[in-house]
Amino acid sequence: MEPLVDAWGREIKSLRVSVTDRCNFRCKYCMPAEGLEWLPRDEVLDYEEIARLVRLTAGMGVDEVRLTGGEPLVRRDVPELVRLLAQTPGVRDLSLTTNGILLDKLAGPLVDAGLRRINVSLDSLSHVRFAEITRRDALDRVLRGLEEAERFPELRPIKINCVAIKGFTETEVPALAELARRKPYVVRFIEFMPLDADEVWRTDQVLSGAEIRALIEAEFGPLVELPAKPSSTSKRFAFADGVGELGFVNPVSEPFCSTCDRIRLTADGQLRTCLFSRREWDLKTPLRAGSTDDELAALIRWAVQHKELKHRINDPGFVRASRSMSQIGG
Ligand code: SAM
Repeated sequence: MEPLVDAWGREIKSLRVSVTDRCNFRCKYCMPAEGLEWLPRDEVLDYEEIARLVRLTAGMGVDEVRLTGGEPLVRRDVPELVRLLAQTPGVRDLSLTTNGILLDKLAGPLVDAGLRRINVSLDSLSHVRFAEITRRDALDRVLRGLEEAERFPELRPIKINCVAIKGFTETEVPALAELARRKPYVVRFIEFMPLDADEVWRTDQVLSGAEIRALIEAEFGPLVELPAKPSSTSKRFAFADGVGELGFVNPVSEPFCSTCDRIRLTADGQLRTCLFSRREWDLKTPLRAGSTDDELAALIRWAVQHKELKHRINDPGFVRASRSMSQIGG
């Protein structure tokens, strides 16, 4: 089949699949403390439905698939989905983003099912601050999960995602940087985006990648820049004397929309062409109404034709996305 190309000439190579909107954490920058309604179960795509849509997009050139949520590991039998997707022709790179709390039990089954790459979200190595940001006392379990993941050499790289928030993250930076120096992890700082359900995001809460890099270099000395793929969301750096790597994902201070090659499938089968989309493309209804592969492929192509040129976070009059991060799939 023809590759999937949007109206601005960007070829779509990457699909993020949310397997559930549910989560066992309540990170302040993502979810409210309580009160977010879950999708009814019958609205959520089953594994065969997800696998069919992945197979279709892979047939149009998507070769990178990332499972996310909500928290993907709270969905029952996720390794079974991994097994299905790992066998899909064209899927070259299958990864998963998790808060890590269930990894101590699931790292082995996920690797066994064919998972080869993992991102673990971890914003602080202090018990108090971890609980403050996630509203859960679970740091030790996440660290155990990371250790378990490290036992499997097939699962590389292990990336750690830290959301960088002004007034919170500055004190966490030295310990997180030290983790990347000491361990074979890629520790990535991601700028806080206006996708929080509480809608407290303000421009002055964004701690930029440049500011964090300056904090790290002041403590550890100059970092060495590493080459990155053109479609990469992150700038990569190494320590002169370290094992792991650092990354800075700067969607607010240095947007990378011009090389964006991603689309997203929500847990309820809506295709989103940008994190900040106000519009979604319903794939679930035609999928369940018996549409053929060709009909679904045409719908996906049509949606991609309408992919947004860029997010408008920094523009006056910016309007937030139609759903918050945990409902979209980060
Ligand atoms: N539960 C999984 C996890 O914790 O990684 C997967 C879903 S989570 C929504 C995916 C990623 O989005 C996490 O790394 C999280 O830190 C990030 N995230 C959530 N809200 C964000 C925001 N407002 N700005 C930037 N990143 C955010």
